[in-house]
Amino acid sequence: MSSLRHIHTYSKFKARPGYFKCNDPGCTHFLIREQVIGKYSRCNECGEEFVLDYDSISLAMPKCLSCRSSKRAKAFQLGKKLAAAAFSVGSGMEVEEDGE
Ligand SMILES: [Zn+2]
Ligand SMILES: [Zn+2]
Repeated sequence: MSSLRHIHTYSKFKARPGYFKCNDPGCTHFLIREQVIGKYSRCNECGEEFVLDYDSISLAMPKCLSCRSSKRAKAFQLGKKLAAAAFSVGSGMEVEEDGE
């Protein structure tokens, strides 16, 4: 058994606290937690490639930004929505209120 040459799907390594391992059953790759930051991983939710950051390794099964429901992801989506709404007001179009 050896580590495969692919984009690893990192998840918390239960047998070795402080380490992350590849979720692929045929792959034995693992790495110390601090070293997976900035590395490519596949999302444990949708399988998309993304770069691991401090936020994502706080999860046992890291997910890409679009699958995460973190405050930052929500703020990012809300910001886009507000910008779009401001645009609609400026151009005289009707904007739906959603009670916020
Ligand atoms: Zn792997
Ligand atoms: Zn995803």
